Amino acid sequence: MFVRSRRNLAYLFTISMGSILIAFAGIAYYLIVQQQLQAFDERLYSDSKTIARNPPYKLYNKRPQLERRDVPIFGDTVPPINNGFAYVRLYKFNGELVDSTGVFGSRKLTVAPGFQTIQISKNRNGVTTSKEWFRELTLPLIQDNLLTGYIQVAVPLTPLRKNLDKARLFLTLALPATLGTIGITGWFLGGLAMQPTRRAYEQLQRFTADASHELRAPVAAILSNAQVALMPPQDELEQRFRLENIAGIAKSMSNLINNLLFLARQDGPLNNTALKTIDLVGLLQPIAQEYQQLAAAQNLNFTFHLPQSPVNLKADPDLLKQAIVNLLSNALKYTPLDGTVALRLVTQSQRAIIQVEDNGIGIPEEDLPHIFERFYRVDTARSRQTGGFGLGLAIAQQIVQAHRGHISAKSVLGQGSTFQIELPLK
Ligand code: ADP
Repeated sequence: MFVRSRRNLAYLFTISMGSILIAFAGIAYYLIVQQQLQAFDERLYSDSKTIARNPPYKLYNKRPQLERRDVPIFGDTVPPINNGFAYVRLYKFNGELVDSTGVFGSRKLTVAPGFQTIQISKNRNGVTTSKEWFRELTLPLIQDNLLTGYIQVAVPLTPLRKNLDKARLFLTLALPATLGTIGITGWFLGGLAMQPTRRAYEQLQRFTADASHELRAPVAAILSNAQVALMPPQDELEQRFRLENIAGIAKSMSNLINNLLFLARQDGPLNNTALKTIDLVGLLQPIAQEYQQLAAAQNLNFTFHLPQSPVNLKADPDLLKQAIVNLLSNALKYTPLDGTVALRLVTQSQRAIIQVEDNGIGIPEEDLPHIFERFYRVDTARSRQTGGFGLGLAIAQQIVQAHRGHISAKSVLGQGSTFQIELPLK
């Protein structure tokens, strides 16, 4: 699926960038043609003007002659003549051909003054051997405000065509190479773009697999207990025990489902409207008192240190309480008899820092980077004893991040753990 999406992305990228590139190359080629033709025409025009200004012929004569000094006569081939002209033709004001040199033309002027591109056949013994393109310019000759005639000159377009051939060859070679590079870049970018989606997809897949796995065991337990309970009652106590089992498992499943729903629903920072200005000391005080009693019931020592003055910040009190309770219940769960659990709140450079410390069993170094992952349990044996699903820390982290805070853990195996929540005060 990801390879296909990546390929599609690369394909779309190549198509869009390639179309832009081809359009760009087309425009560039058009501009080159225009610019080269313009330069060519300008040169032709200025050369023709020079001839017109210093004519090698005398128009005032009855039969004006072209001076053949510069312009040799040639047959029906097109050899280069002076200034590269293929022909020079002189017409009377009424369009009648007076004289010409170079390629023979019509005896009557048939075109309007200006530039035009024409094709002329080269003949040998009356047989067309090849065809060549020329740029022709027809200029009116004015003397004393009177139209005295026309001069028509033409030069072969070969040099221009050679230049354009070079430009075309360059574009034809460069275009596929650039398209190939674009394709490779698209494939690479597609891979980069797919990475977060791939990661999210894999996470979701793992989450779904873990959730179904966690739900399968209690459902099987409920089923087996229910089947036994449905049998003809022999021992009322046994039946009651089964039903109590079912109720217990259903309760823990409901907890798990609530946690899963929370994780699925709450993602990203909380909306400002969902936040209230609360006093953290006021929030922690009753929690500390409750956990002092719970710790005492488990033969654990519990200490807490809270500032005298209020610590105000914007938060969702229920969610924040949930995160702190998750840390405290873990500390109680993973600290053996006579151990100590401490809760602290301090403020430091615009941050409130809540610490939950215990001197319990600790977390192995290699597990520490993973403990905030969903369903991650350091070792299933100890979690099974305590009934954890490996979601408590993931939920605490999600809540803290929703408050734009940060949660971290330090631990030494066999010596204890310290969990710390940092929340911005503003
Ligand atoms: P669980 O519900 O299994 O406790 P958590 O997400 O709360 O899941 O914790 C993940 C794992 O981190 C637990 O399985 C436990 O092994 C380890 N852990 C969490 N808190 C502590 C602690 N205070 N001391 C030792 N291990 C802890």
